[in-house]
Amino acid sequence: MNGLIMDYPLTTNTILNYAKSAFPDKKLISHLPNGTRHEYTYGALERRCCQLANALKNKLGITKGDMIGTFAWNHYQHVELYYGIPGIGAICHTINIRLSSQQTEFIINHSEDKVIFVDATLVPLLEKIAPKLETVEKYIIINAHDGFTTSLLNTIHYEKLIEDQLDTIQWPKLNENDACGMCYTSGTTGMPKGVLYSHRSTYLHAMTILSPNAGNYSNDDIILLIVPQFHVMAWGFPYMCLLTGSDMVMPSLHLQPEAIIRILELEKVNKANGVPSIWMGVYEELKKNPPKKKLALEEYLVGGSALTASLVENFEKDFGIKGVQAWGMTETSPLGTASRLQKKHKDLTLKEQLKIRAKQGIEFPGIEMRVVGDNGQIAPRDGRTMGELQVKGAWVIKSYFKTNNRDNFTDDGWFRTGDVSTIDADGYMEITDRTKDLIKSGGEWISSVALESALMAHPNIKEAAVIAVPDKKWAERPLATIVLTDINKPISKEELKKYLSKDFANYQIPDYYVTISQVPKTSVGKFDKKEIRKLYAEGKLKQ
Ligand code: AMP
Repeated sequence: MNGLIMDYPLTTNTILNYAKSAFPDKKLISHLPNGTRHEYTYGALERRCCQLANALKNKLGITKGDMIGTFAWNHYQHVELYYGIPGIGAICHTINIRLSSQQTEFIINHSEDKVIFVDATLVPLLEKIAPKLETVEKYIIINAHDGFTTSLLNTIHYEKLIEDQLDTIQWPKLNENDACGMCYTSGTTGMPKGVLYSHRSTYLHAMTILSPNAGNYSNDDIILLIVPQFHVMAWGFPYMCLLTGSDMVMPSLHLQPEAIIRILELEKVNKANGVPSIWMGVYEELKKNPPKKKLALEEYLVGGSALTASLVENFEKDFGIKGVQAWGMTETSPLGTASRLQKKHKDLTLKEQLKIRAKQGIEFPGIEMRVVGDNGQIAPRDGRTMGELQVKGAWVIKSYFKTNNRDNFTDDGWFRTGDVSTIDADGYMEITDRTKDLIKSGGEWISSVALESALMAHPNIKEAAVIAVPDKKWAERPLATIVLTDINKPISKEELKKYLSKDFANYQIPDYYVTISQVPKTSVGKFDKKEIRKLYAEGKLKQ
């Protein structure tokens, strides 16, 4: 028997309409790429989203299911795209601006973006690959400065696109399972893979992350969104803030520690998100130049890489600012767990509490997790037994975009994260290692396999194995071990860097190169990364 409750689709339109009704005066503040500050209300945001949606339909001929790319910083126009595009049933595909040209080209062609909204400061990155983009019909330029010119064909300026459009709309009836957004995630081998979010998953994720055991946000908060909108929908914060009525502050490209601190001070921000390298940078800058007045910042939510107990401890001790660790993936929308202390932990020592807070935490309602050992058995929740972390839930991927590859999925319907972890008796998960052959540097992925293939294509390199080495600022950096074909023809670090720069973005190129006589192998002849890490990851033999 069905329940007798209305069928009310959970769509992004309902979020926008809710904010218009409940929080029309709350603010969206943007520090734009040209350094100017822009502010308007959620009421104005809603009206401009309607204008944008009308323009998409009337001027660009966008219809349901069309893929629309965004290549932009965090700012109000990008938030408008987060609502205007899915509002009419099209899909907001946020493209990571930090990838190599080769990967960007692949992603745009693979997703079949029809239109791309691009920040003027980022246009040069697209100009390089534009002739190879097969499906893009138009580029909409955001934040174009006076005298802006481009070699891109078929461009319109964002304001021109929406200025003559009605600021009301009858949003179409959408199914909550319709696709709403898309992000690509780095593949260990081959090219990135697309993760297609639905309206329902986006809505449920946003509702969950605002809750007390997660981010704990309300209309009292002023939140700085440091996580880029081109990274897993800025962790869903642009949707969540409209549900809570929190003011939203957007930094665009002002991501250096000094700039972040200036924005924190100016906007009296009390909560923020970001990867650990950002918060490490902010902490160090605050130590160097302590603020004259105590910051309003109370709490920062960290994910993407491990938040260390020492950073949590020092930030809190020196500045009274609390770090909360969360874990997630592009495939999990992204947030799946957070590590907050519970009532039962109150009487523990500070050290014991820090140990818990440095774990990745308990799962949110709507997410299930388990650890599966090499023997295929579910590991006991003893905080010791390690295995692969597997998850399922209402905002977890069930299949990648346009591929039937099931390597990441178990037969009984779980997603294999590629993270190695334990779960303790209290249900706190802790990441201990990673099975995927990737390096995460400052929140961005680097594929060891791609670097190895490129290095081994060098005429004087027989074998190359790339591993992550710990790095205080970036969490990890790549180190390449190479075996020369002819030992009498050594290759300098500079040469190797130049050689790799053809195919890789700057941050992806290893800082360290070690020439070895042979790469250690496993019994089946694969590169033994564990052994290589043991030998080199301590940095002892870095060159
Ligand atoms: P991405 O899909 O780029 O968001 O990356 C997801 C991956 O980042 C996870 O599978 C983990 O390997 C890593 N990750 C995310 N959050 C954390 C965290 N809090 N601690 C350690 N690793 C993390």
